[in-house]
Amino acid sequence: MNLKQRDKAVNWHPYTQMKTAEDAIPIVKGKGVYLFDDEGKKYIDAVSSWWVTLHGHAHPYIAQRVSEQLNTLEQVIFAGFTHEPAIQLSENLLNLLPENQEKVFYSDNGSTAVEVALKMCIQHAYNQGKEKTKILAFKNAYHGDTFGAMSVSGRSIWTKPFGEMLFEVIFIDIPNAGNLENLKSQIKSYKEDIACFIYEPLVQGAAGMLMHKPEDLSELMKFCKTQNILLIQDEVFTGFGRTGKLFAADFLSEKPDIMCFSKGLTGGTMPMGITTCSQEIFNAFLSEDKYKTLFHGHSFTANPLACTAALASMELLLKKETLENINLISDKHLKFSEILNQHSQVENVRHIGTILAWDYKTDDGTSYFNDIGKALYEEFLSRGIVMRPLGNVMYLVPPYCITSEELDFIYRNILDVLDKFKI
Ligand SMILES: *Cc1c(COP(=O)(O)O)cnc(C)c1O
Repeated sequence: MNLKQRDKAVNWHPYTQMKTAEDAIPIVKGKGVYLFDDEGKKYIDAVSSWWVTLHGHAHPYIAQRVSEQLNTLEQVIFAGFTHEPAIQLSENLLNLLPENQEKVFYSDNGSTAVEVALKMCIQHAYNQGKEKTKILAFKNAYHGDTFGAMSVSGRSIWTKPFGEMLFEVIFIDIPNAGNLENLKSQIKSYKEDIACFIYEPLVQGAAGMLMHKPEDLSELMKFCKTQNILLIQDEVFTGFGRTGKLFAADFLSEKPDIMCFSKGLTGGTMPMGITTCSQEIFNAFLSEDKYKTLFHGHSFTANPLACTAALASMELLLKKETLENINLISDKHLKFSEILNQHSQVENVRHIGTILAWDYKTDDGTSYFNDIGKALYEEFLSRGIVMRPLGNVMYLVPPYCITSEELDFIYRNILDVLDKFKI
């Protein structure tokens, strides 16, 4: 049996209807922006392998650092023990975050980073003898696939089978200059009970790269503070340079109480999640009473290999060449967005930093299940480009090592495909 057949016999893939899906493409090697399949065909990874790969695949520096760590200490229980990579990573990360972020809690992925953040907020109130269980989130939000993370995500076809089992959340519109006063009065009407507000800052990724303005979000954050609502800023997608600045936080005038990270954290090398918080949050758990402990932990909490990958990735991220290339991607995206804006098949072009998205004009509106998405996906694959449209929303989220020529190759193909798929 070949790899495709063996895969089909045993593997169940994520977000995949296994009955109708095409066979998964076996990838045997990755290098820089390219992935190579078992027949030697190469693909440009224009979506950074689900938004995680920052510096390209199989980066030699990250590989070297992880390999050294692997021969030194691969794993140790993080209750009662610690290690240099976790200490150094926490120090380095906190240095880059808004200055009110003081403590780092490790977990395994974006969803668990969100679970930890929610538990911190709910128990923050509980430990002070208050009952605050309501949570505020944006409509169409996406915060992950575990039950807590699903609950604070917009209700959709993805969450439908679990509908009754998800806890109640108050969903509000994303802010704009016109609706802020309305949002404030909605929030005010619940104020006694709301423990926290969780949001994807500036870009709602999985919803289809929907964007809002920093000044509107800042104003909403500021208002939540006046209502004693804790702020959870989910930077799982936006963190580590995606938006053109190191963090979406760098665009905002208000500081969150809690932040979540994963995806680009290790440069896409190893799974890891981080939840950071302010001293005030941390202090609410300090007590002689052991029932006030944050009872949460994962077997692989602060895995030394993942911490080392993150340290190496952050070193690469802060290099002048990387920051310059992030700017180059951003500038080129901006120029290309002007071309897309002129195209009759395209609407709602949006851009921030290394993220460029637009809607492919269709009759049946925007939906994840829009068939055009599948046709476009196949077309780009045949041209050696991995893009994964969200329904009729097309987007680019390339690794930062992509060159100007490689970007031009992708842009050229996009224009070709737009002409080919004229309605
Ligand atoms: C992807 C994502 C998550 C979930 O992360 P996983 O590692 O896939 O569990 C959470 N929040 C946001 C904003 C994301 O984009």
